[in-house]
Amino acid sequence: MTAGSTHPDDPHYVNRSNWLRAAVLGANDGIVSVSSLVVGVAAADPAPRAVMIAGVAGLVAGAMSMAAGEYVSVSSQSDIERADIKREEAALEETPEAEFEELVAIYEARGLSRATAETVARELTEKDALAAHVRDELGLSEAHQANPLQAALASGATFSLAASVPVLAAWLSPASAIIPTVLVVTVLALAVLGALGAKAGAAPLRPAVVRVVGWGVFAMAVTAAVGWLFGVTV
Ligand SMILES: [Zn+2]
Repeated sequence: MTAGSTHPDDPHYVNRSNWLRAAVLGANDGIVSVSSLVVGVAAADPAPRAVMIAGVAGLVAGAMSMAAGEYVSVSSQSDIERADIKREEAALEETPEAEFEELVAIYEARGLSRATAETVARELTEKDALAAHVRDELGLSEAHQANPLQAALASGATFSLAASVPVLAAWLSPASAIIPTVLVVTVLALAVLGALGAKAGAAPLRPAVVRVVGWGVFAMAVTAAVGWLFGVTV
């Protein structure tokens, strides 16, 4: 929350967006991919042992690839940002007048008069020219700077936690009822996830829940159909 917020009782949530996005993505992926895998294998071969091996393997493989993917993508994002900031630093050294003009133009485009834009640009340039350009020209802010390791751990952990729901459901279910049990538990878990995501981001509940549950059920249905087809043909 920015210092001196005028409405501390109704804070902005935008600075939560990075970890929230990684966490919801990780959890959603965990539930949908592993429950689809479990349902798909159970449709092909309902033996509990085969289903559990597939579930646990899916959980571990998914968590590792999620964490690795998040680490790589956030690292390349911060590489790009760092390179941009370096370029900006060099431009401020080499062509300070042109950079000043650029800043004035940005503030004018935001609605300030030429005179006010010049004053703002001058004062911000005197205070910290690079910070002003990074924020107002490149649009980068500390609130959005993601930490690759943090993002990787967040999505790997949320993937594992979420994926353990269908695995536990399959493990605790009678062998003859693995598919319906995993389906019901997964739909409930997705509804809770949708609601948590909406709540954490102060977004409307219903569309978030419908979106998460809808896509989850669709993914499970397709995988179950493929698993069933595979089961009857092989
Ligand atoms: Zn610039």
